[in-house]
Amino acid sequence: MRLNISDTFSCELPADSSTENTRRKVFEATHSFVEPKVPSNPKIIHVSTDMAKAIGLDEDDLSSNAFLDVFSGSKLQPKTRPFAMAYAGHQFGNWAGQLGDGRAINLFEVEHNHKRWAVQLKGAGETPYSRQGDGLAVLRSSIREYLCSEAMYYLGVPTTRALSLMLSGDEVLRDMLYNGNANYEKGAIVCRVAPTFVRFGNFELFAARKDYKNLKRLVDYSIKYFYPQLGEPSKQSYIQFFRSVSENTLRMIIHWQRVGFVHGVMNTDNMSILGLTIDYGPYGWLEGYDFGWTPNTTDQHNKRYRYGNQPNIGLWNLLQLANALYPLVEEAEPFESILNDYQLNFEQQHLEMMRSKLGLVNQNQNDQALIESLEHCLTRAETDMTIFFRVLSNFKKGNALSGIEILREALYNPDDLNEEILDLWEEWYKSYDERLQLEPLDDVQRKVKMDSVNPKYVLRNFMAQLVIDDANKGDYNLLGELFSLLKAPYDEQPNMEKWFVKRPEWARHKVGCSMLSCSS
Ligand code: AMP
Ligand code: MG
Repeated sequence: MRLNISDTFSCELPADSSTENTRRKVFEATHSFVEPKVPSNPKIIHVSTDMAKAIGLDEDDLSSNAFLDVFSGSKLQPKTRPFAMAYAGHQFGNWAGQLGDGRAINLFEVEHNHKRWAVQLKGAGETPYSRQGDGLAVLRSSIREYLCSEAMYYLGVPTTRALSLMLSGDEVLRDMLYNGNANYEKGAIVCRVAPTFVRFGNFELFAARKDYKNLKRLVDYSIKYFYPQLGEPSKQSYIQFFRSVSENTLRMIIHWQRVGFVHGVMNTDNMSILGLTIDYGPYGWLEGYDFGWTPNTTDQHNKRYRYGNQPNIGLWNLLQLANALYPLVEEAEPFESILNDYQLNFEQQHLEMMRSKLGLVNQNQNDQALIESLEHCLTRAETDMTIFFRVLSNFKKGNALSGIEILREALYNPDDLNEEILDLWEEWYKSYDERLQLEPLDDVQRKVKMDSVNPKYVLRNFMAQLVIDDANKGDYNLLGELFSLLKAPYDEQPNMEKWFVKRPEWARHKVGCSMLSCSS
């Protein structure tokens, strides 16, 4: 197995002077060197062959002993030195101080086809940042991260990737619902890949400690490798750095809103500096179109990270990043103006995104009102978001009644369609039809466009749970089936129609389907 190793983070930035693997506060360092725990009986469950190719591995590599050894953490790739990153963060709106990679260990960086990839193992054992945790991950949460990060990639949503999913062979004790019922579960290791795993929290750590020397080093490093177009270090490039991060964060969140993805834990330690979806924990996918929905039971009371609040939280998190970067610029105005732009750009990009979901290529001043009245209709009776938008592309211009049939496919309970709601919908379809008359596309052309932004298949919460139930019994067939299904989420896949379904009733309140905690 040959990899073009090209470490930058651990070579150019200050390391913790201690190499003892004990939980502690780490100062004036971006990372601590630490080796993965050797798993007792590692086994490969699944590999993302596209991801493997992207870092320069071929089919033979994937079946080699070296692959199993390196990506399970059993052996180190020659000439590499694994490490855990130091970062801090705001969790659920409160300052949480030092956090860091408590169970992620970065193996190395690879350069392939002019792209840089940082490769890390999640669930690979204790680090100086493990705090009260054991540094491990269980199979259920690892399956969720593995499947969803690759599914998001194929949906076109900016995300970290996954290379492999392995069993560690070790048992891990978890209290899944934090209710005093701890159980042993199978341990697993996911190999995650991204250009970098640097988060807002990495900058917040130095800023909070007034360690501006290292704050500057980290910003300079981030610009040099990930925003090189911004040029040499200067106040100006720092401001532009913040602008780029802000734009990339907004872009990611608009994609989340488009596909109905709810992250669940948008703490600043889970916000990538590249605007990538990172840390797949208690995430979920909208079923009923409910702005107030969050899958995270830990957030059930405040619903801070609910679907409809994600754009606001992006802004709140960016404000924390602005505070962290401020000492390098010492002027508030540029940051304020960028945060202001985030809000304006959100309005505009959200409108554009919703237009695309409706198949509108022109702009019309009444579009915002058309979208708002649609959202009102969608929330009146439980209507499946993915199905509704997907079948909406079957709407026929000049036949407003075709709309009601479309709606019936997406309704959870057709009896909900009382006269009042029916009237609302008829009115909406009439406006939609009138609006379509102003469009240049015919029905066929519009359908092609709409089907390329409204996915047919997403990783519904119950689908992930079915995979987990089988995997816990040692059967990974369904995992393979859904992995390949989700590689082409916008395609009609006639053999896979069984996954184009509403959430079954058994999954409505089932743990793992609608209720997820941070226990992973
Ligand atoms: P998360 O909510 O998964 O983003 O994690 C928040 C913080 O807790 C991060 O610093 C993680 O590294 C740490 N953490 C989560 N689970 C564990 C674990 N099992 N062992 C050690 N640290 C953990
Ligand atoms: Mg995290």
